[in-house]
Amino acid sequence: MDQARGLVVVVEDEPAIADVERLYLARAGFGVHVERDGAAGLAAIRRLRPVAVVLDVGLPSLDGIEVCRALRAEGDWTPIVFVTARDDEVDRILGLELGGDDYLTKPFSPRELVVRLRGILRRQHGPPAPVRELGALRIDETRRRVTVHGEVVALTATEFDLLARLVSAPGRVFTREQLLSSVWGQADYGGGRTVDVHVAQLRAKLGDASPIVTVRGVGYGTSESGRSGEVVT
Ligand code: CA
Repeated sequence: MDQARGLVVVVEDEPAIADVERLYLARAGFGVHVERDGAAGLAAIRRLRPVAVVLDVGLPSLDGIEVCRALRAEGDWTPIVFVTARDDEVDRILGLELGGDDYLTKPFSPRELVVRLRGILRRQHGPPAPVRELGALRIDETRRRVTVHGEVVALTATEFDLLARLVSAPGRVFTREQLLSSVWGQADYGGGRTVDVHVAQLRAKLGDASPIVTVRGVGYGTSESGRSGEVVT
């Protein structure tokens, strides 16, 4: 099997759906490992370290939301495409503040699944990943892990991408439009307000260790000193 694009773990209890997902993902060049229930899926994700996960929400043992929560609590930010059958599940997925993750509602076109998966993987792609230390803040881009004074800070995929972008060029000021296009991949994703909201969330999570600087009337940057909330006019 061609696994050039990396391994995807599929967690799906309906064999017919799992078979279709396996077929289309394999055709798109992914290696595929299928599990039928949440606990086995979680174990497989921990063991196999896939590039992405296709995760049904309604599953025996642990449901998809619980699997996601368990991973995120461990600082594992492997991108997830949720597959859900019900509207109330969509509300629960959105309630997770998933950031860069995505979801599909059943019935869905398997081709759409491949498109979504490529999308979240593209958003993850970046230059070779250094470990940056800014005061108490440590950003490990390979493991997509952020710590403050050694404690893991749980960031959504989007929050992580935004932070990584900001610290990639110390001293540089990014406009909201630049951040929208490099982090969200498009310039009209709810406008500059989206950036402001995510910056506020990052600052709340990083506390005094936040390196983000507001440049009034322009956008955001970072200061090497790690001082939080400084306004440059
Ligand atoms: Ca199911």
